[in-house]
Amino acid sequence: MPASPSPIGTLSTASAKVSLLTVSVALVFATILLIFFGYLSLRQSLVEDVTVQSRLIADSSVAAILFDDKVASEETLSSLRLAPAISAAAVFSDTNVLMARYPDSTTNTLAAPSEDLLNRGHEFYWGRVIVAHHVISDSNVVGSVILQVDLAQMYERLITFALITFSIVLASMGFAYLLVRRMRRVVSEAEAHLIRLAHLDPVTGLPNRHAFNERLAHSISKAMRAKGALELLLLDLDNFKIVNDTLGHNSGDQLLYLVAHRMTAALRDDDVIFRIGGDEFAVILESATLKRKGGAVAAKIIASLAAPYKIGQHEIYVTASVGIAAAPENGCDLPTLTRNADTAMYQAKALGKNRYTQFETEMDQVAQKRMLLETNLRKALERNELSLNYQPKLSLANNQIVGLEALLRWNHPELGAISPAEFIPVAEECGLILPIGHWVVQTACSDMAQWRDQGLGDINVAVNLSVRQTKSDALLPEILASLKTWQLRPDQLSLEITESVLMENIESNISLLDQLRAHGIKLSIDDFGTGYSSLAYLKRLRIDELKIDRAFVQDIPGNGEDEAIVTAIIALAHSLGLSVVAEGVETAEQLAFLRLARCDHMQGYYFSRPMKAHRVASFLAEESARLASIVLTPQLTLPTHHCGAIINM
Ligand code: C2E
Ligand code: MG
Ligand code: MG
Repeated sequence: MPASPSPIGTLSTASAKVSLLTVSVALVFATILLIFFGYLSLRQSLVEDVTVQSRLIADSSVAAILFDDKVASEETLSSLRLAPAISAAAVFSDTNVLMARYPDSTTNTLAAPSEDLLNRGHEFYWGRVIVAHHVISDSNVVGSVILQVDLAQMYERLITFALITFSIVLASMGFAYLLVRRMRRVVSEAEAHLIRLAHLDPVTGLPNRHAFNERLAHSISKAMRAKGALELLLLDLDNFKIVNDTLGHNSGDQLLYLVAHRMTAALRDDDVIFRIGGDEFAVILESATLKRKGGAVAAKIIASLAAPYKIGQHEIYVTASVGIAAAPENGCDLPTLTRNADTAMYQAKALGKNRYTQFETEMDQVAQKRMLLETNLRKALERNELSLNYQPKLSLANNQIVGLEALLRWNHPELGAISPAEFIPVAEECGLILPIGHWVVQTACSDMAQWRDQGLGDINVAVNLSVRQTKSDALLPEILASLKTWQLRPDQLSLEITESVLMENIESNISLLDQLRAHGIKLSIDDFGTGYSSLAYLKRLRIDELKIDRAFVQDIPGNGEDEAIVTAIIALAHSLGLSVVAEGVETAEQLAFLRLARCDHMQGYYFSRPMKAHRVASFLAEESARLASIVLTPQLTLPTHHCGAIINM
């Protein structure tokens, strides 16, 4: 994209022109002054010279006048031949009688000088100067001398002087002009370089965010003026972070360069592409018509990125999610259009990545809801709006409650109860999950200590962990500190990590799990079956339990595929020495199937919904006794009237 000239550059060029002009005018003015002073000084020295000459003539003429000797007077004047500047001269007696004239020709029309001229000494006329002097003998005026000097010679000298001065000044001005021009070129080159740097991304060579903001604002106003249209594509690489984290930043940069190259090749020359952030790119599609082509372009870009990238020894696959917003429908100003394209891009991610999504108004409402949640979530901890519910986990072997899962609840005074499935991703994105997660561990530990102090024994409680928590160095020390504060055994605490979180950062999670396990803390893989974990990893993970995701439980018995998956997961877990929990058990039939498949534990509404902490003590006391007395066989399941009572807690 051509860099637009900077206003600073234009200003400095204009001011350089102005100053050059000013200097030139000043120089011309100074030269004229110099020539004028040269003229004055030439005139002055000429007058002085001729005055000396006239004095000499006057002194030499005293005797000739006194003796009325005209010949002697003429001889005196004839010495003037040696002074070519003097074009005429004459000597007069005190009665103005002509004594002699030089040259003795008709052109010499010099008359006796007036008293006024004699007093002033000289008089200038155009082309000549007249100098007059008294002839004095013993302090008496006996006559006068008058000399006429031709100024042609002086003017010649003056012209020569002026020519030399002008030549010097012109040469200096020319030199100065060349110097200034060269300086201007150097300065404007440096400026252009700085502008390029400020607008260019050094890694990919594409225009950067700064350039993007300028160009988009310009394109929008151009489109609006011409009643045209414009589409903005925001693209975010889906798995770039993994490349950066595992292969290092150099490889990451190489990958970005290659991605930029492929994108540029996939676009037309008049489409402009920018790198606006770490792994974020933007494309502006200007169009004179309202015909949309953003979807086709996005599909083309996504397809162009699909082939593997060779970086060093590695072959890497990268996909991208693209959000599209169009002007004027989705916004006629820069912030709205970019925000909406961003919302559409997040929607593409949420729909499974490696795809494009066109912005729709409902998405904006979702984004606004998200903002509302984030703003309120920031105050939720201080305002005591968060609480924990506990859902019991039941052993299918002996009907004992083997533990509780702590489930976070948020009750907002105006917004009401908000599901963790809704607010935890928001907390995760804005980082609030770290203080919230810490609060969950502390509260669970404090509840466990309270139940112990009430004589309910050492109850095992499972706490859910989020991605950010698993990446935080503070997690282990905080957990250990909480266990210590409430004097709990580490094996009373279980941590649940969903399979997808675990796989997102598998190597560092393996080492985290090892450390937690080394301290005796129990570990579960939550929502198992949804996160594509490989068996190779499963073998390396030091965990205690797999929790089969509710999605596989809800349609059993009856759905052959799910039945096969559940049976396989249970067999797999047992072969690895892990126990299995089935999540979301709601019916007697599900329970019966799980029992047959030798599932170890169950959790679900069929037995109990999550309950408030203060209900746990009475529940445990009453239900443990009751459940222990019920004989559970594959045929004979929990009586439904009993479950109904529990469900409404
Ligand atoms: P999860 O860890 O898989 O928790 C189980 C979810 O299934 C809970 O939803 C629970 O109420 C629900 N559930 C249990 N039995 C049944 C049933 O029989 N039928 C149905 N339909 N649902 C059942 P909840 O409490 O809404 O939590 C949703 C998710 O939010 C949790 O899934 C967990 O991933 C997350 N979550 C909850 N509390 C926390 C927390 O403190 N920290 C983190 N990081 N995540 C949490
Ligand atoms: Mg869980
Ligand atoms: Mg789960």
